[in-house]
Amino acid sequence: MNYFSLNKKSPNVSFKEAVIKGLAPDRGLYFPESITPLSKDFIDNIGNYSKEEIAFEAVKQFVGDEIPADALKKIIEETISFDFPVVGVEKNIGTLELFHGPTMAFKDVGACFMARCLGYFNKNETTNVTVLVATSGDTGGAVANGFLGVKGVDVVILYPKGKVSEVQEKQLTTLGQNISALEVNGVFDDCQEMVKTAFLDEEITKNLTSANSINIARWLPQMLYYFFAYKQLHKQHKDIVFSVPSGNFGNICAGIVAQKLGLPIKHFVAATNVNDTVPRYMDSGDYAPNPSKATISNAMDVSNPSNFIRVQQLFGNSIDDLKTKFSSYSFNDTQTREAMKAIHKESNYVADPHGAVGYLGLQKHGLKAGEYGVFLETAHPVKFLPTVEETLDIKVPLPPQIEAIMHKEKIATNITTYDELKSYLNK
Ligand SMILES: *Cc1c(COP(=O)(O)O)cnc(C)c1O
Repeated sequence: MNYFSLNKKSPNVSFKEAVIKGLAPDRGLYFPESITPLSKDFIDNIGNYSKEEIAFEAVKQFVGDEIPADALKKIIEETISFDFPVVGVEKNIGTLELFHGPTMAFKDVGACFMARCLGYFNKNETTNVTVLVATSGDTGGAVANGFLGVKGVDVVILYPKGKVSEVQEKQLTTLGQNISALEVNGVFDDCQEMVKTAFLDEEITKNLTSANSINIARWLPQMLYYFFAYKQLHKQHKDIVFSVPSGNFGNICAGIVAQKLGLPIKHFVAATNVNDTVPRYMDSGDYAPNPSKATISNAMDVSNPSNFIRVQQLFGNSIDDLKTKFSSYSFNDTQTREAMKAIHKESNYVADPHGAVGYLGLQKHGLKAGEYGVFLETAHPVKFLPTVEETLDIKVPLPPQIEAIMHKEKIATNITTYDELKSYLNK
């Protein structure tokens, strides 16, 4: 499979090159040249296939012959080695729990798949590549865990000192091996700025690459969530509406790819917090990002979602076509907390702030008779512990994978300036 740049000013590249490059030289996002629907027979009989078989069928055309079938099957197996249950919350509403992976965030799937693909492509090289990534929380942990022990790849993670949760910090700083953490005296934007500078700095001797969500190997495997939900629901429910808590819109965009592959999905709701560029665009046709605002669903504090251009491409860049299958609504922190409380009161279910925004999206969209709504739970409530415990007035027990790291020793190098990052990378 080849990929073209959505800026249309760079040559088309193979899957391998798109994974290694991340972004095209013209700064455009890569997009598959074609999307061929799976056979109707396969979709109709999805209940007869294992999740590994479904994943291989869905993913193989996007990889093509650049990773042989056996190796790709192994990568997929390692990527989806945990459960993706749909849990009933109300009569016609369920939640797709995407937090059963090693770092309890849905980003585990994309990060692990990308890590394995990069490891595969780099296995015969003599020099390591260095993945350089800035994180405001969840990305760093998922990337660190996904790349842990992958030969030929080193990972350097920058995070803002005192600005990530305790759980998140432990996930970044306790792994060792090929993972190092740099604790930056500053905010997330400072980390992001340093990473951008490093990518443009010709004096950096390391072979740098990025692991952010624009990379096709992080974006595309997220389509699997929708297949796994459909496999669980299709016998009882025909008209499924997905509501996706959205920040950079990578997850929902992958859901739309699943729909293009033939998965019968009735409608998508992109639920955002007050960073509402897309909901405003859907109303006015005017795409006008504001500065980003801090919220309790902070993994979605994105004002200019990088993957929205891919969503538009999937609908032929027609806002009218987009509106037939896709709606978007925004919610503030008060509404989010109220939703967390209502879900807990009605169903005894503990939703994290991101999942609660997804739930609100279904409420606002409104489900017609016969429709079943699924909101995606993108992180375990334990990852946003202070907000969840304070809002619901409960104690959330630590799951074993979190308990295990809380006792480990943090190892991080403290830096303040770009020059310190540079000498760290060149040492
Ligand atoms: C990253 C993240 C999101 C947003 O996902 P996008 O693919 O960027 O839209 C939502 N919830 C959580 C918990 C996240 O970590």
